[in-house]
Amino acid sequence: MTGIEENLRRIRERMDRAARAAGRETGSVTLVGASKMNGADACRAAIAAGIDALGENRVQEMRAKLEENAYDGAPLHFIGRLQRNKVRQVVGQVDLIQSAGSMELLEEIQRQAEKRALVQDVLLEVNIGGEENKGGFAPSALYAAAEAARTFSHIRVLGLMTIPPIEREPHGNLPYFEKVAQFYVDISRDLYDNGFKYLSMGMSDDFEDAIAAGATMIRVGSAIFGHRQYQL
Ligand SMILES: *Cc1c(COP(=O)(O)O)cnc(C)c1O
Repeated sequence: MTGIEENLRRIRERMDRAARAAGRETGSVTLVGASKMNGADACRAAIAAGIDALGENRVQEMRAKLEENAYDGAPLHFIGRLQRNKVRQVVGQVDLIQSAGSMELLEEIQRQAEKRALVQDVLLEVNIGGEENKGGFAPSALYAAAEAARTFSHIRVLGLMTIPPIEREPHGNLPYFEKVAQFYVDISRDLYDNGFKYLSMGMSDDFEDAIAAGATMIRVGSAIFGHRQYQL
């Protein structure tokens, strides 16, 4: 068994345990591998080991790996901070844009999707900690944004995504996860005919708490691929 295969097996066990503890069905949570700074070979190994999808953060890195066919056989998501001028390089290239976090971005996604005559699936990103340096809708703006997003003919909103503040206390993110889960339920019911599918939250260190709060999708990097070597 390769390292990635073994890591994936362990994560699935942890996911199943967390789901059972929360009284949810095992297998009800989608596992997205956050493959930033890992090469095409690592992406292929994760796909061979049965990962549900891969998520990338940087447009340039994603495009380079697309050239290498790194993602063949699995859905590809964009999960990073997206600049407006890069939207056209992402729309239609990925199955899901998880980080649609402003009206300007939604407008640009709509424009580029319309040009290509496709409908782009997205998640609305929520800046649940109200952090200045982070993307995403402020909680106070989320409901109106979700309402406005329904009017975009070339965008389909499938749920919400959040990246809570960096938390050092055990279970420190649980209150954030619970808040976003409440938004998810309310907005899906009030504005989307209960049609939301994905509540994307939880990473290597806290995905059990996210699943306890109701996450249906988690994004895991280092626990699958090992610690990232940040190059200067
Ligand atoms: C890197 C990343 C993750 C995964 O983080 P790990 O702590 O390595 O599991 C999840 N979501 C986003 C948006 C990321 O950039």
